[in-house]
Amino acid sequence: MAELFYDDDADLSIIQNRKVAVLGYGSQGHAHALSLRDSGVDVRVGLHEGSKSRAKAEEQGLRVTAPAEAVQEADVIMILVPDPIQAKVYEESIAPHLKDGDALFFGHGLNIRYDFIKPPASVDVCMVAPKGPGHLVRRQYEEGRGVPCIAAVEQDASGNAFALALSYAKAIGGTRAGVIKTTFTEEAETDLFGEQAVLCGGTASLVKAGFDTLVEAGYQPEIAYFECLHELKLIVDLMYEGGLEKMRWSVSETAEWGDYVSGPRIINDQTRAEMKKILGEIQDGTFANNWMAEYNAGLPKYNEYKKADEDSLLATTGEKLRSLMSWVDEDK
Ligand code: NDP
Ligand code: MG
Ligand code: MG
Repeated sequence: MAELFYDDDADLSIIQNRKVAVLGYGSQGHAHALSLRDSGVDVRVGLHEGSKSRAKAEEQGLRVTAPAEAVQEADVIMILVPDPIQAKVYEESIAPHLKDGDALFFGHGLNIRYDFIKPPASVDVCMVAPKGPGHLVRRQYEEGRGVPCIAAVEQDASGNAFALALSYAKAIGGTRAGVIKTTFTEEAETDLFGEQAVLCGGTASLVKAGFDTLVEAGYQPEIAYFECLHELKLIVDLMYEGGLEKMRWSVSETAEWGDYVSGPRIINDQTRAEMKKILGEIQDGTFANNWMAEYNAGLPKYNEYKKADEDSLLATTGEKLRSLMSWVDEDK
């Protein structure tokens, strides 16, 4: 079972006695930097030349410098720039300025797990990853609560890396809710698997296949859209609140019976075997290496897949229907 840590297990003064650089001011970066500051931590934000986030960080009272300068000043460096560019930012702005005893922090394990970033043995390497988007992390902190975090140590040069990670988690509200100990490997592999097999990949393909099946059988696309995509939110909200049990308690007995008898025919042995294959490609690095190659080639296939879905009947049907629903917020 997972090991959990709360406020009483963490010593805030550890991070208050360090100098923190938060690189990036997006979803996670803004939440970390602001809450660290409000917890009495000496923090600066490192942003590249021409960054869109710079004005916002300054407006919110934070000091912004170039990434390299922030790293030079600080002894705890939290990397919250997009994952595919972290290795480049590390080579250019971090590695040349790292000192023995510094700590390198991550919000996701990908770059360490797959060796895209190889820190020297003389620094701590830690992860503090909130299990929620940055805006929720910040809002919960301001309300005196917190979003649960996971924390990990890949390299413990100081001998105190986990206490430092817990202290950091406390400063962003994580230990108010609970911090689960994990490893970079477990976090990176399960995160990739979850988003590919279930959350994004699995769900998107399930929706598309269901929609196509109804439309090909002659049903109206608008009706198919409601049944296969729109209503998904209702179901997921119930699962989020009370697991599969609450969803099954809430839907009709007919729907529940259909769930038991037809669900396993959709996610069948072949699907499960494919899931294992996908997990294998995550574990052996095939997925991460292919993704980096695609990213560095300028995203040719990524853009092709994106365009095909954006032009699909599912997308155009959805656009039309959502405009009828005044309460649906299309902002991205
Ligand atoms: P975002 O895309 O929201 O923000 C990235 C930030 O990095 C932006 O402020 C961007 O500036 C800045 N940036 C881009 N290039 C550079 C550079 N060269 N130097 C300095 N800053 C740069 O990222 P997220 O917050 O979503 O993700 C950050 C990390 O957190 C990732 O490792 C991610 O996996 C992890 N994470 C994210 C979660 C989430 O909910 N989003 C949840 C848990 C972990 P600009 O505005 O100019 O583009
Ligand atoms: Mg992910
Ligand atoms: Mg129905």
